[in-house]
Amino acid sequence: MKQNDPNQDPRKQRRPFLVSYGLVILIMLLLNVFLFPAVLESQIQTVDYGTFINMLEGQKLSTVQLEEEQIYFIDKDEKMYQTNVIPQDYAIVQRLEDAGVSFGRIYKKQGVLEYLLTNWILPFLPLILLATWFSRRISRMSGGGGGMNAMMFGKSGARQYVMDDKTGIKFSDVAGQDEAKESLKEIVGFLHDPKKYEEIGAKMPKGALLVGPPGTGKTLLARAVAGEAEVPFFSIAGSEFVEMFVGMGASKVRDLFKQASEKAPCIVFIDEIDTIGKKRDSGSGMGGNDEREQTLNQLLTEMDGFDATKGVVILAATNRPESLDPALLRPGRFDRRVPVELPDLKGREAILRLHGRKVKLDSDCDFNVVARMTPGASGAELANIVNEAALGAVRNGRSRVTQPDLQEAVDTILAGAQKKNAILSEKEKCIVAYHEVGHALVAALQSHSAPVQKITIVPRTSGALGFTMQVEDGDHALMSKEELLNKIATFTGGRAAEELVFGSVTTGASNDIEQATKLARAMVTRYGMSDDFDMVALETVQNAYLGGDSSLACSETTAAAIDAKVVELVKAQHARASRLLAENRSKLDEISQYLYEKETITGQEFMEILERGNKG
Ligand code: ADP
Ligand code: MG
Ligand code: ZN
Repeated sequence: MKQNDPNQDPRKQRRPFLVSYGLVILIMLLLNVFLFPAVLESQIQTVDYGTFINMLEGQKLSTVQLEEEQIYFIDKDEKMYQTNVIPQDYAIVQRLEDAGVSFGRIYKKQGVLEYLLTNWILPFLPLILLATWFSRRISRMSGGGGGMNAMMFGKSGARQYVMDDKTGIKFSDVAGQDEAKESLKEIVGFLHDPKKYEEIGAKMPKGALLVGPPGTGKTLLARAVAGEAEVPFFSIAGSEFVEMFVGMGASKVRDLFKQASEKAPCIVFIDEIDTIGKKRDSGSGMGGNDEREQTLNQLLTEMDGFDATKGVVILAATNRPESLDPALLRPGRFDRRVPVELPDLKGREAILRLHGRKVKLDSDCDFNVVARMTPGASGAELANIVNEAALGAVRNGRSRVTQPDLQEAVDTILAGAQKKNAILSEKEKCIVAYHEVGHALVAALQSHSAPVQKITIVPRTSGALGFTMQVEDGDHALMSKEELLNKIATFTGGRAAEELVFGSVTTGASNDIEQATKLARAMVTRYGMSDDFDMVALETVQNAYLGGDSSLACSETTAAAIDAKVVELVKAQHARASRLLAENRSKLDEISQYLYEKETITGQEFMEILERGNKG
């Protein structure tokens, strides 16, 4: 059994101090052993009294220092000597004077203290100061101090948590996300007036976890909570805890909470908490995860330890909630979950409008149309679209953003920028036109499918040669089996048109194949839409956001049966798409020809040709 007790060995925290002091002491020892005795010895040579007298008589002395039991003297070559005095030789002073030797202080005999001071402490004072400064620096980097100074250590000059006194961001800066805002408003109320809650005896949740896909405004919302409550905002990314020196993460957490409780009421925001909050697996004792684990343990300790009534609220954000350690989600920790989802049609329009206010817009701009073109886009992508449109307007020498700028930006952000000089052969262009119209026509001919918004055969840098943009009439929370089948048929429509018209196939359908397969598989394994398997869950989704990791939960035989079913589903829809196109061959030709000439056509133009044919 693995101990999950989040107690932290405090000695570990002192490691950097010990390291730097230890280093200095080591250097001192080495210097003393090897260097200083050598210096001293070479400086003073001990000789006997006779040598001294001889040198005196030989006029070799320059300065002499007489002590009670010793004589220090320097010869004309500046060499230093010492010798014992013969006590009876009273005439020595006279003799020295006669020889013209000067008296002076050459050497001072030292007491033990003096010796220590001059030989050990003074030479190393600079070193000690340096070491102290060094370890202070390290400890400050680990989370103390003012918070604003950028540190020069680590690969990125690692920043500590940022402390904003007032973020200045309000809920009105976050468009849509009404439900998330609603549940965060209570926290704002609490931060505004913690006493009110205390009097009643209500306990606020210590932490709230913002959960949602990337770019949906989680960070923005957290800042808005601080802005609304007008309290300080400490923010740090989970990754910053782990990037640092070993052993730093935990002390950083401790420091963060210490600072926060001093500034209460305030908000501590841990972005991307999954980097430290990952599940601790009992199997790994290899030390690689030790650092992260320690940091996480410290975080848990701090969350349990501090008094919630003080007014410190911990917010955290993640887009991988399922990978979080369950300990983080226990009552008294991040027990409140705030889902922050991708915006719906209304939300997308609101986000576009909000960011649109920052740029000069032409009167023809219609954000509703743009919002309809961008199902599944995140807030960050929509903000990017508006900015890209503004850049495009500047590039084209306009002073206002126009609707075509926005359309272009949508293409750029969602499908890669237009390749200015990618040249398609005439034949290729023709195939791509038929392929794209094939998709669109199949979609339009099926009553349940959304109408086509735009078709283009202008190549994108993303590699897509053509591009059919479907507009959904609002976002569906629920899709019927028929709608899903129609979608699969639409995916196969491109290839079906190629087959019908050219009698051969190209590589252009690889993405379609992938999408159709994914959908068909999901129908069988997740949505229970096949007769054979009924409502049996065959797949467990591990990561609902980031769209993807799922694993089959069934036997091998069943897996084979699933594969067969998927093939059957796609085949049936492919056949249906081919039939639909064959029945409408003249319209396929007409629209494809039109697209071939114009390269880009709108949904309106498309429908006009389609209906013209119908009536005539
Ligand atoms: P996350 O933290 O969820 O990945 P961010 O909060 O960092 O997303 O969002 C990135 C940017 O996207 C924001 O700075 C903002 O410009 C824009 N954005 C995202 N969602 C919204 C929204 N709901 N309203 C307004 N802007 C948004
Ligand atoms: Mg973020
Ligand atoms: Zn296609």
